[in-house]
Amino acid sequence: MAPGVNVVALSGTFGMAQAISFPSAKLRERPVPKDSTSSRRAKPPAVPLSKRHQRDGRRVTEPRGDEGWDLDPADVNAEYASMVERQLALLGEDPAREGLVKTPERVANAMAWLTRGYGQSVEEVVGDALFAEEHRNMVMVRDIELYSLCEHHMLPFFGKAHVAYIPNGRIVGLSKLPRIVEVFARRLQVQERLTEEIAGAIEDVLAPTGVGVVIEAYHLCMMMRGVEKQNSKTITSAVRGSFRDDARTRAEFLYLAHGREAFAP
Ligand SMILES: [Zn+2]
Repeated sequence: MAPGVNVVALSGTFGMAQAISFPSAKLRERPVPKDSTSSRRAKPPAVPLSKRHQRDGRRVTEPRGDEGWDLDPADVNAEYASMVERQLALLGEDPAREGLVKTPERVANAMAWLTRGYGQSVEEVVGDALFAEEHRNMVMVRDIELYSLCEHHMLPFFGKAHVAYIPNGRIVGLSKLPRIVEVFARRLQVQERLTEEIAGAIEDVLAPTGVGVVIEAYHLCMMMRGVEKQNSKTITSAVRGSFRDDARTRAEFLYLAHGREAFAP
């Protein structure tokens, strides 16, 4: 179980669980968006940041520490780094001054990390952690930490996700729900679509009786620019199946999602 994750309503027998096959067909990951801007000169195709280097036959997916991973030249996307260098110049900075010399590489690697969801799929993160189970009550993982980037400003939005479903013959390993959130959060997003994509993925993986997802998040593009509304939290929800059609199920879900002290940064 990931730290910071609370499981609220969970009962039933997990000991009798057995692995069942994974419904893969519906779970194709969204393709990496291509650069659609037209240009008079033909440009070489951009290398997506998610095309990471292999090391020892394994793809690097975790930063190794504060500076180590950030500055690992094997992982730097040189084209992205040079773009950041230009960006620094356009901001009126001197990219050659001491504090900024390594910044383009750091930013390139940080952005690769922050958008790594493009290189992941739900199928991959769930793996074989699906189990046959007759439990028919609501399963909820709440307070899943969430960090994403808004697609309009490429500024962070962050908060918590609460994810629930009612099984219909199969359950998923609980640690997989936060990982499904990560697949979609670690892309350029709007909160509304993120909420729907998480609900849709759980529906595809589990074919449950119902799914509910609530996300509450603070958007830096609102907090540190424009309207500068420091304390406005955006709440979105997506409900499917019995969470949409059955008022009591929906009420139970919303009570569990909002029932505790509100999240504050
Ligand atoms: Zn924004």
